[in-house]
Amino acid sequence: IRLPESNTETEVPLSLGSAGVALDAETQVSQIQQALVNNLHWVQGKDEQFANAHDYYTALAHSVRNQLLKKRIRTAKTYAEAKAKNVYYLSAEFLMGRQLGNGLINLGMYDTMRHALADCGLDLDELLEREAEPGLGNGGLGRLAACFMDSLTTLNLPAIGYGIRYEFGIFTQLIRQGHQVEAPDKWLSYGNPWEIARPDYRVEIKFGGHTEVYKKDGDDDYQVRWIQAQTVIGIPHDVPVPGYGTDNVNLLRLWKAEAGEAFDLDAFNAGDYFGAVANKMISENITKVLYPNDETRQGKELRLQQQYFFVACSLQDIIRLHLRDHSNLGNLAEFSAIQLNDTHPAIGVAELMRLLIDEYSFEWAAAWQITQRTFGYTNHTLMPEALEKWSVDLFGKLLPRHLEIIYEINHRFLAQVKLRYPNDPDRLERLSLIEEGGERRVRMANLACVGSHAINGVAALHTELLKQEVLQDFYELWPDKFSNKTNGITPRRWLLQCNPRLAQLISETIGDSWITNLDDLKQLEAHLDDEAFRHAWQAIKQENKWSLARYIHDAVGIEVNPDSMFDVQIKRIHEYKRQLMNVLHVITLYNRMVQNPGDHVVPRTVIFGGKAAPGYAMAKLVVKLINAVADVVNNDPSVNGRLKVVFLPNYNVSQAQRLFPASDLSEQISTAGMEASGTGNMKFALNGALTIGTLDGANVEIREEVGADNFFLFGLTTEQVAACKAVGHNPWYYYDTNPELKRTLDVIASGLFSPGEPDLFLPILDSLLVDDPYMVMADFAAYVQCQEHVSRTYEDRDRWVRMAILNTARIGKFSADRTIADYAREIWKVKAVPVAGE
Ligand code: PLP
Repeated sequence: IRLPESNTETEVPLSLGSAGVALDAETQVSQIQQALVNNLHWVQGKDEQFANAHDYYTALAHSVRNQLLKKRIRTAKTYAEAKAKNVYYLSAEFLMGRQLGNGLINLGMYDTMRHALADCGLDLDELLEREAEPGLGNGGLGRLAACFMDSLTTLNLPAIGYGIRYEFGIFTQLIRQGHQVEAPDKWLSYGNPWEIARPDYRVEIKFGGHTEVYKKDGDDDYQVRWIQAQTVIGIPHDVPVPGYGTDNVNLLRLWKAEAGEAFDLDAFNAGDYFGAVANKMISENITKVLYPNDETRQGKELRLQQQYFFVACSLQDIIRLHLRDHSNLGNLAEFSAIQLNDTHPAIGVAELMRLLIDEYSFEWAAAWQITQRTFGYTNHTLMPEALEKWSVDLFGKLLPRHLEIIYEINHRFLAQVKLRYPNDPDRLERLSLIEEGGERRVRMANLACVGSHAINGVAALHTELLKQEVLQDFYELWPDKFSNKTNGITPRRWLLQCNPRLAQLISETIGDSWITNLDDLKQLEAHLDDEAFRHAWQAIKQENKWSLARYIHDAVGIEVNPDSMFDVQIKRIHEYKRQLMNVLHVITLYNRMVQNPGDHVVPRTVIFGGKAAPGYAMAKLVVKLINAVADVVNNDPSVNGRLKVVFLPNYNVSQAQRLFPASDLSEQISTAGMEASGTGNMKFALNGALTIGTLDGANVEIREEVGADNFFLFGLTTEQVAACKAVGHNPWYYYDTNPELKRTLDVIASGLFSPGEPDLFLPILDSLLVDDPYMVMADFAAYVQCQEHVSRTYEDRDRWVRMAILNTARIGKFSADRTIADYAREIWKVKAVPVAGE
């Protein structure tokens, strides 16, 4: 490693990528090298001879962060001077992925940095791999929030993302003897160079205790105050969020819980030192760990504490910022749009009411108007069991004042409903914020609907189903509140960064405007008949497959054939997503090979990735089945490499970035009516994979865009699923009438995949044959038939490549830039505030 001598400035003198600073290449390279050595010496206290790759990564990350902070300072100043309206995106999850590569790309420094590092003997790719992934989300919902942050900044919209700085993110998935085992995600072990703690913006959050009525000095009116039992401090940790081709830098502000100032002085004074420290630990537990999505999450007290904690911290921060630029809170809604990413932050409705009424002495009616005008609510699920409800007892214990406020909101709301529907007690019961009968519970979706001026679904089908089913009563009451905002993905991370070869080919062919105007990809259609272009396209896919093959070999020791079709299903493991149907198809292919070894087959590599919630037994059993089938199929000499099955452990954003570019076939096979949108489906198509899918979520719109001829459709529609269930779905019928399906289930029952444990997969067979709630049996034949069509099409490589190009060319609608522009115009009413270049 050859670096210059350090100089005595502790500040890194890097000034690349800034508009207006035209340094020659040589100067840029030497500045980067100087910045690295300075950081090693003066920030990390290391000599370059002893520095390891991680130290270099840290030095590089600090250099990039400094660039971002410089822009951030100017951005904050510009926004404040403009007195601009801000978006506050409240989300319990932000699945940001690694920051360094993205930061370099957005700053326009990627190539220069690679060159500068290579010049002194360092490999950028190797350093990028040193970054721990911040896995502060479960899957689609958290990743959506991350894509939105990228687009908000790219569009120069003033925004802050508010969330939780979990000390442990989504668990690390290990596979042991084919079973999923969870390990803690210690992503902060080596520090986090991207964040800056802001103890100066600390806030105090109350929990528990009771409320009391009192009279303010010199005032005739009664007020209520909340006498808490516990105080927790929220410390914001700021992560700068760059956009592409802009000097604007927005913030992701994540809250960490710490014990109250004089934490339990009483205990200290009583000599109970250990008791006092234990209390400190209880406070700090609030932001300790991300809850994995699972069926039993409801009722978890710590989760309600997390939700309230980050929302209450964020609202205090929003109010502080508002009062810094405006004289009072009366015009809060004119300058702030707060978006609730699902119901996780819905307690914000009650908290803003509490702040306005109890702390800022607003009348109820005025407070309510401000609250409703400020909030928007995005629904993410159609599954009734996933709608959050909290027991009234728990709520009252943790947030006594909020429960009173929710009762009052409910009282006023139901009085209004009664006027409109005088003789409809059932409707009143359904709309109530409180679920009666059995344990009384607060319905967070109802609170979000009542407290927001806008309610949206995340794909056209999803929004329609919301109106007809889950939120039907609210839709009838307030049709104008409802709109659709089909999800999108950022083309920066999901093409430019993850698939540099394809990005370069596209830019060489049509220019690079697609990076911020994804619809421009349409221009690729004009090159469809250009043979050289198609060859180049195919060669890139092939190279990406080779590099994934090497990764698979390193990760799990399986040799795969890069010339085979890469058939990929990567997403959380859930019954409705039907990984099980995919494995049943694999077993069917295997059976055919065993039965008719001489038959011609199109070679496939079927790749799975995804985490099962730790408490979700059926999903974990599916993981085991995939691995068990892989063991048999991959080691059977009669298969002769024509079929391989791979389960890649620990699916996360970094792995996703390797997988999408190398995929041929995208599996989007959820039961119709169950996937709200999906965003993985968009990432595959953007990278030129063809979809096999049902008419579910955004698949419907993807198929409309890319054309029915370029999409492999199969399966029951939402209406057919409902009709089938209404007359009584009988899975045995399919078992008895489809010999291949029967054989597939019989092979599982025979114990072939569970030697020594013949009953291991019985719960799976039971679920399929007893009630088959996800209609796997009903859709199986259509799926297998469609897969045969896929294989035949794949044999005609030229046709396949044309279809792939058309998928990429026509996917522009699914840019998160479009989604965010729609939110900005129709819900938030915010305008761009571009920061002037240096
Ligand atoms: N997890 C990760 C790491 C992702 O990148 C994505 C989306 O692209 C998802 C989960 C969501 O996948 P899907 O929309 O297929 O459920």
